[in-house]
Amino acid sequence: MDDSFITLTIGKTKNIALIAHDNKKPDLIAWCEENKEILKNHFLCGTGTTARMITDRTGLPVRGYNSGPLGGDQQIGAKIVEGKVDFIIFFSDPLTAQPHDPDVKALLRIAQVYDIPIANNRASADFMIHSSYMTQEYEHEIINFQKNIKERSETL
Ligand code: PGA
Repeated sequence: MDDSFITLTIGKTKNIALIAHDNKKPDLIAWCEENKEILKNHFLCGTGTTARMITDRTGLPVRGYNSGPLGGDQQIGAKIVEGKVDFIIFFSDPLTAQPHDPDVKALLRIAQVYDIPIANNRASADFMIHSSYMTQEYEHEIINFQKNIKERSETL
């Protein structure tokens, strides 16, 4: 048996992180309003300003972490590692330099490592939110980190 990977389950109720760079906040708020009936069935969190603005403008409950440039992206990355965030909508701004670019890259990378669905524009977000997996459990394969640590600690 190949135990290099373990199977994890993204539940029917998703733990969704919502993030938008400043120029994209109006777009994400509009998208949340448009998809409110779906989003209200899931647990929502986000970087501080984005979370506050979504709650204020749509009434959806969104747990806020720190503001992105102050470590909010890293907090969400840590939640992915802990298995507490399993779906990300991140409207990043491709035309403006961000002071926290390394944190943004780190979040994208850790989402990739943990096979977390992540949308970085409206079309991707639309495809994801209307996927039949939104109302089902989804099993995926993740690197077996216990085995990885055991092997590394024995061979390095
Ligand atoms: P904010 O952070 O929601 O606090 O503005 C978003 C970001 O820039 O990563």
